[in-house]
Amino acid sequence: MKVCSKCRLADAGFYKPSDSWCRRCHNAHHAQKRATRAEAKARELAARLAAERQTGRVCSKCGVLQPLDAFPAHKDCPNGREARCKRCCLERFKRARQRHYERNAQEVRSKVVQYRAENAADIAVARRAARARDRAELNDRYVLHLLVRQGSALKAREVPTALIEAKRMHLAIERHINNEAKGQR
Ligand SMILES: [Zn+2]
Ligand SMILES: [Zn+2]
Repeated sequence: MKVCSKCRLADAGFYKPSDSWCRRCHNAHHAQKRATRAEAKARELAARLAAERQTGRVCSKCGVLQPLDAFPAHKDCPNGREARCKRCCLERFKRARQRHYERNAQEVRSKVVQYRAENAADIAVARRAARARDRAELNDRYVLHLLVRQGSALKAREVPTALIEAKRMHLAIERHINNEAKGQR
């Protein structure tokens, strides 16, 4: 009767007649090896992720090494970040959007027209609110509107930034003086 050379049990069942280990010892040995390999792999991955948190990640698209927060968050990805950087994701999104518009130009346009018609009142309210905010905060849009309206030969896109800044300062001083005058009355 054959005895396993490892567990010393008699007639334990062998895969091959030439084996010295029984089936059970054989299986246990390979299970152990698999577990060791899996542990090593997990440790390697953990080390890689830890290093990545320190030095950053190479984008899978543009190949540039960047800090992790330059990658969009995604809870299922390693270190909670996607493989492509934000810039590459944005590029892809823009290309996809452009393609979508080109393929569905007619439909997109009629949807916009329809949306404007159905929400005309809301849009008007939002537009008035935005205009009031621009006026209150002396935002570029409001200042530019005054510059172009007041008999300027310039077109809106030709107005230099410095002129907008100067006009804004002028308006702010004017408002300040008016407020002072009101206070004295
Ligand atoms: Zn055995
Ligand atoms: Zn990239």
